[in-house]
Amino acid sequence: MGASQVDPGRVAELKGREDATFVERRPRTMELWKSGQAVMPNGVPMSWLRTSYDHPPLFIESATGSRLRDVDGHEYADFNIADMSMFTGYGPAPVVAAVSRQVAMGSQYLLPTEDSIWVAGELARRYGLPKWQFTLAATSANTEVIRIARSITGREKVLFFEGKYHGHFDDVLVELDDGRLVPEEAGLPHDVTARTLIVPFNDLDALERALAGCEVAVVITEPAPTNNVGLLMPDDSFHAGLREVTRRTGTLLAYDETHTQVVGPGGLTRMWALASDFVTVGKSIAAGIPLGAYGMTEEVAAVLQRPGGRDDDTPQVAVGGTLFGNPLSMAAARAAMSEVLTEEAYAHSQRLGSRLADGIEGIVASAGLDWTTHRFWPRSGLSFCPVLPRTASEAKATLDVPLRRLMRVYLANRGVWEAIIGAGPTCSVAATDEDVDAYVDALGALIAELV
Ligand code: PMP
Repeated sequence: MGASQVDPGRVAELKGREDATFVERRPRTMELWKSGQAVMPNGVPMSWLRTSYDHPPLFIESATGSRLRDVDGHEYADFNIADMSMFTGYGPAPVVAAVSRQVAMGSQYLLPTEDSIWVAGELARRYGLPKWQFTLAATSANTEVIRIARSITGREKVLFFEGKYHGHFDDVLVELDDGRLVPEEAGLPHDVTARTLIVPFNDLDALERALAGCEVAVVITEPAPTNNVGLLMPDDSFHAGLREVTRRTGTLLAYDETHTQVVGPGGLTRMWALASDFVTVGKSIAAGIPLGAYGMTEEVAAVLQRPGGRDDDTPQVAVGGTLFGNPLSMAAARAAMSEVLTEEAYAHSQRLGSRLADGIEGIVASAGLDWTTHRFWPRSGLSFCPVLPRTASEAKATLDVPLRRLMRVYLANRGVWEAIIGAGPTCSVAATDEDVDAYVDALGALIAELV
């Protein structure tokens, strides 16, 4: 038996059958993938896309609301929502109108538009931090947060928690391997581990020890980690302890709400009344039109203020990019936040998230499996163990990758697009009761064949 209490032999057998069905029913996808391989590494526009799935990549024809359609005419209820970037659903009318209007008037001027004031003001209202800046992605928002933090503190190190993901920049592409820091991927400088510290999530003693030397510029964390290892929820005292020790050691604190922003307006920062020096967001904030943003306190913002404009000869923090904060992204974000990501929309996705968790819990209970269903507002999911893990190491031990891969292809063959490995399927604001039923029915069929 695997860690998940299911027979690995049976998992492999079903996987073989479902993989064959997947390929057989998708001749056009296979044809396009072959053509893609002639002109792109791995046959896809970003080579890593191929490694997100172990079945062939699906080629998409279009999407509307909560549904994706592939080039072979199959429709999917989408619970991956492009790894959280399409939480608004596909093609929400207010965003389509605003973006169409703006693109016709010019997509970039390298000059501000009024929308940027509205968007910064709305993010300030939602997240409680007064000043905002914009990039094209959450990765670059986190990169700029680190540069600002280094500039303020004069310290070089950055601390993350084990199991983190905050984008593809050097400082964060480091992981713990048997207690030793190692580069996560190839192509990184040999000393990439020199400026990064990693400690287990929920371990305030380890955090205290790591910050004691006052060498760390900033701690960056999701309020509840949702990447790589599933969901980790903070212990009751974790965030208060994190704020206290960062303040005491002169370390800045950044919450990365790129994924967790879907729990409600203002993300977990507002829901749990968290205090920090920075908040970063991205992905769904402009309905999948590229936009990253970071909020900061007045004290932090002071380092970016240049009263003398180009004649201000104090060294400038290394921030910026030609297309960052462009009018198209701003128009999309304004339409998304004012008309799509409303209080009612979040309430709708939360109701469906509970319905999904109820369905999953029912299947697990009737199969007599000792698994845990988590409830993370619009996002629900399964851990193949009796209680939700508290740390990344605990979570890794129960991941059962072959079973996760089987779930994904089994569901795809039944019209459900499962979330990539992370904190589980998410109900977008466009999702419906029928989508949730489709997920629960497909999962129920799999478990009935497995157990
Ligand atoms: N922060 C978190 C918490 C994320 O999950 C991700 C992407 N999965 C990022 C940052 C980076 O987002 P992007 O790839 O859009 O830059």
